[in-house]
Amino acid sequence: MITMTKPHANQEPGASSKVPARGMIDNVMEQFNSAADHIDLHPNIRKILSITNNEIVVHFPVKMDNGNVEIFTGYRVQHNNALGPYKGGLRYHPTVDIDAARALAMWMTWKTSLAGLPYGGGKGGIQLDPSLYSKSELERITRRFTFALADNIGPEHDIPAPDVNTNSQTMAWIADTYMSTRPPAERTANQHVVTGKPGGSGGLEGRDRATGYGVYLNIKCWMERHNKSLKGQKYIVQGFGNVGYWASHFMEQDGALLVAVQDAYGSIENQDGLKVDDLFNYSQSNKGSIVGFSQGKAIDNKDFFKTNCDICIPAALGNQITADNADSLKATLIAEGANGPTNVDGEKILLEKNIAIIPDILCNSGGVVGSYFEWLQNRNGELWQLNEVMAKLEKKMMDSFDKVFEYAQNEGLDMRTAAYCLAIRRIEKAYIERGIFP
Ligand code: NAD
Repeated sequence: MITMTKPHANQEPGASSKVPARGMIDNVMEQFNSAADHIDLHPNIRKILSITNNEIVVHFPVKMDNGNVEIFTGYRVQHNNALGPYKGGLRYHPTVDIDAARALAMWMTWKTSLAGLPYGGGKGGIQLDPSLYSKSELERITRRFTFALADNIGPEHDIPAPDVNTNSQTMAWIADTYMSTRPPAERTANQHVVTGKPGGSGGLEGRDRATGYGVYLNIKCWMERHNKSLKGQKYIVQGFGNVGYWASHFMEQDGALLVAVQDAYGSIENQDGLKVDDLFNYSQSNKGSIVGFSQGKAIDNKDFFKTNCDICIPAALGNQITADNADSLKATLIAEGANGPTNVDGEKILLEKNIAIIPDILCNSGGVVGSYFEWLQNRNGELWQLNEVMAKLEKKMMDSFDKVFEYAQNEGLDMRTAAYCLAIRRIEKAYIERGIFP
């Protein structure tokens, strides 16, 4: 039995350390309980959703390039599958632990439910710093982790996807390992065990940009609802990986100005604007780091969130906007590309200051919607075109935004609580219709 409300010290890097950190699990539980109170969620369903279904922890040995063996710890937490197979990413990062995986798995349950997908929520990863390993070591670590997870994942059971420090290559290794360990007649029919694969391995055209595109669409919708245009709006982005880059790419196409970026290595600013593709090309040639980019001046990491801007897109890790820095934010809109970037204390301050937040479970749901399209494509033996994918994604994202925005207005709620209410209601309905076995 696990207790979901205990205090603990799961704080992601970059988060302030002055105040004892709320762990991500505390945040997700507080967000859940506040929405559950609002909709008067049935107490039995509250009990079920407050706990994870399954928690898989594996320790596995991998031979390093120098011949030594290292033991790694991997996690897969399956929170809830009332609406369909568990779905959610795999993260490779030193902060991955059981509490982080629990919190991230819960967020996936709300996200897939809100998006109207036939999925539940899961999440996991390996506690490691991938920059310390060669590509061939990462391949062996990934394959051995997949082998250790064995039948705990599967295309109709639990479907991982990329997350922090994992990508389409990681997914290709997982798919290949999983398929190679099936009985011969089932091998090729299992490629949708993961989504976010490369194009040659069953991947979906446009899956790479789906999350960032969704973040951009949410911001655009929000602006339209406030009679504003994106042209000339200044924005800052924390994390210039998959989500941060693609969100910036689409923001720039609509005339918004990227004025500051922070990644794991440092922060840069230019109030006249940083060119997104120049920055991306620079970071690709600089081991993934934005530091030293000639169009920006270096700023102190602690000043990043104080930068003058209209919109802030946290697209790195959780627990970044907290009681320590929320007061100094200049943006009037926070669009959560990352999962759990704003903690509950930070959010209270932002809402008091009338700063709007497009919550993670809505804002970054383009990724899981894209993953759903990939899963359908593989399952049905189809090949979808990029324009078809983007059009379907756009429709789904805009419908979700409208649903949350209108519910929030009608109920007098902030957008996060509104999104949670809608997500939880859908799961509650499934439980009420089906009852509890036996
Ligand atoms: P990524 O690995 O591609 O990029 C992560 C970026 O964050 C990198 O630029 C890295 O340098 C930066 N970063 C890492 N630690 C940092 C720190 N302490 N301070 C500032 N920057 C830091 O990861 P991603 O796929 O872009 O994921 C980013 C976030 O978006 C995560 O919270 C993830 O869960 C969430 N998300 C991703 C997807 C997806 O499809 N990839 C979907 C939904 C949500």
